[in-house]
Amino acid sequence: MRCYAARLAWYITWYDWHRHFSACTPCKQQTCLVGHGRRLLHEQTMPPIDRKPVCLSCPAPLLATELVAPVRWEGTDGFNLGYAHLRCLSRRASVT
Ligand SMILES: [Zn+2]
Ligand SMILES: [Zn+2]
Repeated sequence: MRCYAARLAWYITWYDWHRHFSACTPCKQQTCLVGHGRRLLHEQTMPPIDRKPVCLSCPAPLLATELVAPVRWEGTDGFNLGYAHLRCLSRRASVT
């Protein structure tokens, strides 16, 4: 069981990243330094067991060299936060 502060840091950095990404055009086309920085910050808050995030869409691992987007989707118990490759997102435009 993770402590509350660690979960909170994970949430906050995810939403920071998502907020930037949704307003940033370069993030959706190429590497954006700001977006990449927020992704790295977020990855630092992941517990070791989650350090190998996978894409929601393919689902292959997300490599550091690949363009990744934070995505939110509605599940049975509310919103889930996750990630997807940009190339996969363009095929599934409904994921926001
Ligand atoms: Zn950006
Ligand atoms: Zn993918």
